[in-house]
Amino acid sequence: MTTGSYLVDEIGLANENLPAACDSCEWVGNAGETKDIDSTALDAGDPSPVGRCPECDSLAYLDRLQDRVIDHALQLFDCLSKLATATSNLNAAQHSGRNITADEWSDLYALTNQANALLTKVRGDHAAER
Ligand SMILES: [Zn+2]
Repeated sequence: MTTGSYLVDEIGLANENLPAACDSCEWVGNAGETKDIDSTALDAGDPSPVGRCPECDSLAYLDRLQDRVIDHALQLFDCLSKLATATSNLNAAQHSGRNITADEWSDLYALTNQANALLTKVRGDHAAER
């Protein structure tokens, strides 16, 4: 097991035309546009960066469509689970005769909008896949 920082002699060069994205800002481009990393600390299991963002100098990674699709799908699942819980709570409130608060309606509305936005992202991923 590695217990301290270590140096990697050489990083395999990515195809310069592969899509890349910054982890910190909104920059997207391709691998060839990123700057040299020089040195950085990575933890075991971290994805390997392709370079530094030309805009903010943070680490940038290859934009792997599959990772994005899985990430968006997991976020959508999480959101739908919260939506189901919120709906169930509202239903229980109505059955018990309790008034539903404005905050509860507002949360439900926000979750519905969030689910819709995530669904749009998943659709976009699917379109990009073809
Ligand atoms: Zn950036």
